[in-house]
Amino acid sequence: MSVLSWIINKMIKSIDFSKFSSFKIGSVVDVKILEDCSDYRDDYYLIGSCNNTLISDNPPPLIKLSKKYDYIKIEDNLLKIGALTPSGKIASFCKKHNIANFEFISHLPGTLGGLVKMNAGLKEFEIFNNLVYINTCTQKRYKKDIVFGYRYTDINEPILEAVFNLEYGFDEQKVMMFKKMRLNQPKKPSAGSCFKNPQGDYAGRLIEAVGLKGIRIGDMEFSEVHANFLVNNGNGTFEDAIYLIKEAKKRVYEKFNIKLELEIEVLDKNWLEKL
Ligand SMILES: Cc1cc2nc3c(=O)[nH]c(=O)nc-3n(C[C@H](O)[C@H](O)[C@H](O)COP(=O)(O)OP(=O)(O)OC[C@H]3O[C@@H](n4cnc5c(N)ncnc54)[C@H](O)[C@@H]3O)c2cc1C
Repeated sequence: MSVLSWIINKMIKSIDFSKFSSFKIGSVVDVKILEDCSDYRDDYYLIGSCNNTLISDNPPPLIKLSKKYDYIKIEDNLLKIGALTPSGKIASFCKKHNIANFEFISHLPGTLGGLVKMNAGLKEFEIFNNLVYINTCTQKRYKKDIVFGYRYTDINEPILEAVFNLEYGFDEQKVMMFKKMRLNQPKKPSAGSCFKNPQGDYAGRLIEAVGLKGIRIGDMEFSEVHANFLVNNGNGTFEDAIYLIKEAKKRVYEKFNIKLELEIEVLDKNWLEKL
């Protein structure tokens, strides 16, 4: 391999999103690798491990952190985690080192950057609970200076690292509890909950109430098991997924006057025009 192609290989990675994304939808796309922040531009869309992402064959330019952001360490009595670190690795580390408060993460697929950006969580256990600060491309942001809520943060630039309070006492009982919570959820490829729960209600209940539970377009379906999980039965496409999403939004608005808000991210150049 020539030096030039070695450099290009380091800077760009071809990713087959039909294998990489949790929906198992998408095509092969060249993704720029962010080695350091000088590689980043605003018109790039930063991906983690696409466990919360529906990607079309026509996505915006994509960028992904390099492997140097995949680490976890204890330093200054704090837990410091690189943003590309997968949740499974964090869960194993916490178990091995008897660290508390991250038990829920073993059932939350994604990278640390995606988890923090989404303030991902299960019930009252959210990634922000133990956050101290994040390092982004331009600044160190303490939790108190970040606007965050249910599956929402105002972070709009690459997170490189997140730093958490360190408490000891890994709780195996909690792992079992989270495992149990997952039992009534579909096993087919999905991105978890499709819509956020509107205040005081459940997106799954609303989707069922408008007759969309178990409804299938092509290979995409609002699951029979849990209506708020949009699942891929094998050869589901972006277009079929969007059809169902639009249908759910329309029917729920017409019947309940509630505007369902997507929890998943849609990556398509024309998405906004299609809505
Ligand atoms: C079966 C299943 C069950 C799930 N259950 C839950 C659940 O119970 N609760 C829950 O909260 N989520 C759940 N999810 C969704 C998913 O686990 C989380 O949203 C997770 O945070 C996605 O991480 P990711 O790295 O794959 O992010 P991606 O899908 O790649 O990206 C998601 C968002 O994060 C941003 N992002 C990614 N990396 C960075 C970074 N370094 N800096 C800044 N922004 C970044 C992206 O730009 C995008 O906006 C589930 C998903 C699946 C497949």
